[in-house]
Amino acid sequence: MSTALLWFRNDLRLTDNLALQAALNEFDQILPLYVFDEQWLGEDQYGFVRTGPYRLQFLLESLQDLKTHLQELGSDLLIRRGNPAEIIPTLLEEFDCSQVFCSKEYTSEEIKVEQALRKQVPFSAIHNSTLIHPDDVVFDIHRMPEVFTAFRKKVERYSKVRATVPSPESVPSPDFVGDQVPSLRDFGIEPAPYDERGVLPFKGGAMAAWGRLDHYFWETECLSTYKETRNGMIGADYSSKFSPWLANGCISPRSIYQEVEKYEVEVEKNKSTYWLKFELLWRDFFRYTAMRYGNRIFYAAGIKDQPRQWKYQPKVVRRWINGETGDELVDANMRELKLTGFMSNRGRQNVASYLVHRLKQDWRVGAAWFESMLIDYDVCSNYGNWIYAAGVGNDPRDRVFNTQRQAHMYDRDGAYRSLWLSAKEVT
Ligand SMILES: Cc1cc2nc3c(=O)[nH]c(=O)nc-3n(C[C@H](O)[C@H](O)[C@H](O)COP(=O)(O)OP(=O)(O)OC[C@H]3O[C@@H](n4cnc5c(N)ncnc54)[C@H](O)[C@@H]3O)c2cc1C
Repeated sequence: MSTALLWFRNDLRLTDNLALQAALNEFDQILPLYVFDEQWLGEDQYGFVRTGPYRLQFLLESLQDLKTHLQELGSDLLIRRGNPAEIIPTLLEEFDCSQVFCSKEYTSEEIKVEQALRKQVPFSAIHNSTLIHPDDVVFDIHRMPEVFTAFRKKVERYSKVRATVPSPESVPSPDFVGDQVPSLRDFGIEPAPYDERGVLPFKGGAMAAWGRLDHYFWETECLSTYKETRNGMIGADYSSKFSPWLANGCISPRSIYQEVEKYEVEVEKNKSTYWLKFELLWRDFFRYTAMRYGNRIFYAAGIKDQPRQWKYQPKVVRRWINGETGDELVDANMRELKLTGFMSNRGRQNVASYLVHRLKQDWRVGAAWFESMLIDYDVCSNYGNWIYAAGVGNDPRDRVFNTQRQAHMYDRDGAYRSLWLSAKEVT
């Protein structure tokens, strides 16, 4: 019997998982593994825990869901903590596996681990996380269109979204005992209480992802009005809230796309249904940006060639983090982030612009805080959007948000600000 080790990363699903499919196609049985990589559990250079409580909790729930589904299909999940480049070769020997399969990642820390493994064991990293498969774009990725609109037009015209692959009916595996999914406390983290003002009590896992999709598409038909509501800031349904599940790979962008197309046939096709596909292309755009520019998405000067100097004043940053800048829209949003792990897209654009253009602070400290706090943190989307907001990314215009005007446009009655600030603070 030939055995492959399937290393789950940000692809915690069995449906439309191309790494799982490849392993099952080529081998008789697979050994499923998840590794908590130590480098993401510690603190960053600003003293922020890299994986904060909201995201870690969501990840643990996603792993529990994955484990349950694997068990239903006759397998289980091994769970380890440490450096995957050291753990995986040992497991390969222990379980007599001939090859490692995983989903490909596009940023430096992840690629470094892939490279270290490739040197030691037969290793296949499969493109699995984009809407448009990298083999299906008509341009050389190193010459991809720099601006989103040009990128979108090219892929909309020339590339097709591949059909999804169903979950396997069984996952044949060697004899092994799976591990229990740890709890937050096992990582020394206290669970954060749920704040009723939050947009949604997010729950990790593929089952919850599909439940959310059923709600947003089929039960409420909110998808039909997405374009009109997507700039909202209060409540569950102004936008899809798919991002945490996408970030952990509990659902694939191709599955969502396929469901939109089904909705367009069975319910209606309009500007809103198109707009959700459009937003999924933004997600791809930042993944392709990472493929093209590599480490430059983390540089102070971003992908621009001119060097940029930024200030870093911890006290100023601390006020931004705590929602104590005096700007009500910014403060309300920053408090929501700290208390729930989520913030709307409108909010993110405003607080990022404020940190960089008004407070003149280094965008990288903002990106690091988001990395720590966001339940939907995704390295490409986060750093791609931050360099964009800081004017060192792909934006042809250097956009500065006027937060007073934005508050007037998107929170005219002050409901959002009063939700997160005390009544006295809102004027
Ligand atoms: C400074 C900044 C940092 C961000 N960091 C992240 C991050 O770490 N992770 C993350 O998933 N998104 C990030 N975003 C993008 C965006 O704010 C979120 O994807 C969105 O708010 C999630 O809510 P939703 O799922 O309801 O989105 P919807 O409006 O329902 O959109 C559907 C999906 O499209 C994708 N999408 C939408 N807008 C964007 C965008 N601007 N960039 C990339 N993908 C997009 C997401 O996968 C999203 O789930 C960031 C935006 C900014 C301005």
